[in-house]
Amino acid sequence: MPETTCLVCGTVFDPATDPKGGFKWMQDGSWYTFNDISCRNKFIGNPKKYLEPAAS
Ligand SMILES: [Zn+2]
Repeated sequence: MPETTCLVCGTVFDPATDPKGGFKWMQDGSWYTFNDISCRNKFIGNPKKYLEPAAS
């Protein structure tokens, strides 16, 4: 099964085997999966922070 990287904390996990199964969220028509609900909540609070590549 394809592994997923949590955009918030960077943890690589497999939603199919993870006990929690991941936490999904749709943003701008795309589904994103997080390894923890706290990560999902952070993403919801500021999606651009995690979607836009770090430019500095
Ligand atoms: Zn995470």
